Amino acid sequence: MSKVLIIEDEEAIAELEKDYLELSGFEVEIENNGETGLNRALKEDFDMFILDLMLPGVDGFEICKRIREVKNTPVLMVSAKKDDIDKIRGLGLGADDYITKPFSPSELVARVKAHLARYERLIGSNVQENDIIEIRGIKIDKTARRVWVNDEEKPFTTKEFDLLVFLAQNPNHVFTKEELFKEIWDMESIGDIATVTVHIKKIREKIEMNTAKPQYIETIWGVGYRFKL
Ligand code: CA
Repeated sequence: MSKVLIIEDEEAIAELEKDYLELSGFEVEIENNGETGLNRALKEDFDMFILDLMLPGVDGFEICKRIREVKNTPVLMVSAKKDDIDKIRGLGLGADDYITKPFSPSELVARVKAHLARYERLIGSNVQENDIIEIRGIKIDKTARRVWVNDEEKPFTTKEFDLLVFLAQNPNHVFTKEELFKEIWDMESIGDIATVTVHIKKIREKIEMNTAKPQYIETIWGVGYRFKL
């Protein structure tokens, strides 16, 4: 359920707004003072703010400005004077909408719904960024499971990719073949640790300029491998 905070010193108006919004299925809280309203707006999680301009304590201009410094939550500003709306716009406070008193409650509800819907679409469309590791010319996109070496994409098998990611995520740490085998193949007793050697060789062919002098995956003789940072 969407939660709306009304910051309004005229209690009758605040109650009217609350009633109509609750009838439309919103959860509504009221603050009649600018200072407490601002505190709650900053500290608590609301989905929308309905903010009166003239308030005791801190006024609506200041509250809107302070909210915008830390939140993108929609703000609908309410004012008693039409002139104030131009003033609010001119100040560029970041309010999403303005409404003048007196207004019809259904108009208010319609606007709140529209802004919430728009805001939810905005949040929903925020595609999560891919998890990427970049080390000296190598770019590993863990989310898309793709690897580029100096901007050229290289094909990796599943195990080659897992092994490269594991080593790159734990740079400067020497792993024995047994440890790598256990980590990537996850079968302690089955298989051959020589598989690790074969895979390291294949990875090197893709990422190293000179496989005889590896710059990324070093062989630590008698121990194992290390990804050099
Ligand atoms: Ca007022």
